[in-house]
Amino acid sequence: MVLAVPTLLRVDPRRSGLRFARRAYFPRIVGLGFGAISVAFCLSSISSFWLYVALFLNGFIWPHLAYLRSLRAADPMRRERDNLLIDALLGGVWIALMGLNALPSVMIVAMMGMNNVSAGGVKLLLRAYMGQLVSMGITLLIVQPSINFATSPSQVYVCLPMLLIYPIFLGHVIYRMAIRLAQHKRQLMEISTLDGMTGVYNRRHWEHLLRNEYDNCMRYQRMATLLLIDIDHFKIINDTWGHDTGDEALLIITEELRLTLRASDVIGRFGGDEFAVIMPETPSQSAMLAIGRVRNHLTDRGQLTHAGMTLHISVGIAQFHPEMQTYREWLKAADLALYRAKNSGRGRTEIAGI
Ligand code: GH3
Ligand code: MG
Repeated sequence: MVLAVPTLLRVDPRRSGLRFARRAYFPRIVGLGFGAISVAFCLSSISSFWLYVALFLNGFIWPHLAYLRSLRAADPMRRERDNLLIDALLGGVWIALMGLNALPSVMIVAMMGMNNVSAGGVKLLLRAYMGQLVSMGITLLIVQPSINFATSPSQVYVCLPMLLIYPIFLGHVIYRMAIRLAQHKRQLMEISTLDGMTGVYNRRHWEHLLRNEYDNCMRYQRMATLLLIDIDHFKIINDTWGHDTGDEALLIITEELRLTLRASDVIGRFGGDEFAVIMPETPSQSAMLAIGRVRNHLTDRGQLTHAGMTLHISVGIAQFHPEMQTYREWLKAADLALYRAKNSGRGRTEIAGI
């Protein structure tokens, strides 16, 4: 229930410590509250008013104090771990005072074990159990209660709600934690694979996908075509209509690539005003037709954005060939074709020779 946040996501240690304390707060209220009621019914051999006052304080006041202690701490994570140790120490005292009554004792040991192992793994678990053993031993020596392992039927019934509710609680907290971690993972995946502005793959991830496509083409004798696309005179767009319009133009191109090309085509932003596309199972001639459609749409879109603004692109196309030694050679072929397109007047598509 009190799961520590993985290091990867720990941006601010204090904030994550506070989240840790918050996650522990409600389960501690429930666990210690029900636990105190069970213990109260099992303290039959010793009856002292102050003992019940102490039990009340432990069961119903301590969870709030523990939370306040963590909130005020410079290092809430560490304080919360100390709180867990205090939970375990007090648990040991109650086990001894119940004369080692089997069911409630095991219930306390299991509950503290769950808390500690989920918060800090085996290390914290061992620390808590050592502490619990020591506090139990000391209490047994000082108080010398009569030892009776047997749990009466009424004591069993009193323990049942806790045995039922606490694991469900723990499961729920872990489930919520897992959902949050999955969301974080997805966000991290997006940050590391997508271009922040356009939302298509960034260069690093796109190159990774290109390498995979190259390996597949080699291994299974498949066909694929690679396109490098660069906007013509993009600097003029930036200089004439401003950087925001330049950004808008990049988004327009991304949208046109997405709408016009197949869903299976892999679009990436190669940097600046350069895009790249992998077209699996596509010969270069088909790729040329597809990019021709994109080009036509872009001409219209440019005019719509700003009168007089034109969006032209130069494209270099290279179909996979088994003689290419690495995926970089494939990329180089497309780059040379793009260079030729630029040098022979722009607004053109050139196909790499084999
Ligand atoms: P060419 O026809 O030779 O490609 O000419 P060009 O003006 O497009 O020149 P080049 O491709 O070398 O220049 C790319 C420009 O793209 C340079 C840079 O100012 C601009 N640029 C790069 N990233 C961004 C961006 O995220 N937003 C905007 N608005 N401009 C960018
Ligand atoms: Mg350019």
